[in-house]
Amino acid sequence: MRVAEINNNKIVVAERETITLGDRMGAIVKVLGCGLCGSDIVKFREHISNNGTVLGHEIVAQIVEINSNSGFKVGDTVVASHHIPCFKCAYCRGKSYSMCDHFKETNIEPGGFSEYVFLSDEHLHYVTHLKPRNLSNEEVSFYEPLGCCVRAVKRAALSPLSNVLVVGLGTIGLLMGQALRAFGMTVHGCDIMPDRIAKANNLGINAFNSSDLEFVHNHIYSHTGDIGVDCVFMTSGADAAIPVALESVRLGGKILVFSSTPNNAAYNNNDIYYKELTVLGSYSPKPQDLEISLQLLTNGEVNVKNLSTVYTLDRIQEAFDDTVSNKIMKAYIRF
Ligand SMILES: [Zn+2]
Ligand SMILES: [Zn+2]
Repeated sequence: MRVAEINNNKIVVAERETITLGDRMGAIVKVLGCGLCGSDIVKFREHISNNGTVLGHEIVAQIVEINSNSGFKVGDTVVASHHIPCFKCAYCRGKSYSMCDHFKETNIEPGGFSEYVFLSDEHLHYVTHLKPRNLSNEEVSFYEPLGCCVRAVKRAALSPLSNVLVVGLGTIGLLMGQALRAFGMTVHGCDIMPDRIAKANNLGINAFNSSDLEFVHNHIYSHTGDIGVDCVFMTSGADAAIPVALESVRLGGKILVFSSTPNNAAYNNNDIYYKELTVLGSYSPKPQDLEISLQLLTNGEVNVKNLSTVYTLDRIQEAFDDTVSNKIMKAYIRF
């Protein structure tokens, strides 16, 4: 089988022995496509992963071999995510599902950028669903990234009708903005790239350019009865996004951190204290968030048409490079 693996800071297509189920519970699936996630880019760019690592986890695939009572059968086209919480440990009991050891250990094998993938029985039971008929493979591959956004919306625990700001209108910002709108919020969004701002406006997010901090402040205050937004969702990994958040959030508001920043930029202690801010992180979805994600995609409340650019597996290095250089917003690797 063909896989795309890391080899000395490059993504190289290599041939490996095709995996089979053997006497394991679970399924072997033939990958039809896999989205290229921002986290794959980070792992590639920061050289976190060893040679031979197969990245990718946003898979759409067809079951070719199965041993499970999960209800799926050979021939089913499914969408799957990669991590499953144990639901029993102290983290899970504290609702920090993505901090669970089991969550971090579980994965699809060898990774999504592989012609064939092994899904464990747990994957089939908790994080795998039949592909809805009204969605294309490419569209349904947003199941996992949108699930991450659903998790963030839930973590923020806002009342409907809240005013929110999404900082950063890349693919994740556009998913987050639409998810927030689906939950009843009034959604503002900002970025410094005009094409992203235009795209966001087309998707019903009130988007504006955030290059100038004074403009940001005036714009947000004029749209929120002069108090600022109830919550800022930080989908941008730029250090410059932090002043935008502090300029926009209302006294007593929340900032939801959804991205790493290269220089580990910080929020000020005294801002948090005197403005009584809540700064909270959101990392990865639990199974119920993924179910909601699939509903939002299926009923069209989140529109992902034309958000990704299709590449074949042979061109996967180009897909990584084009994403890094912002030539495209998101890549989908078609097998
Ligand atoms: Zn992802
Ligand atoms: Zn756990």
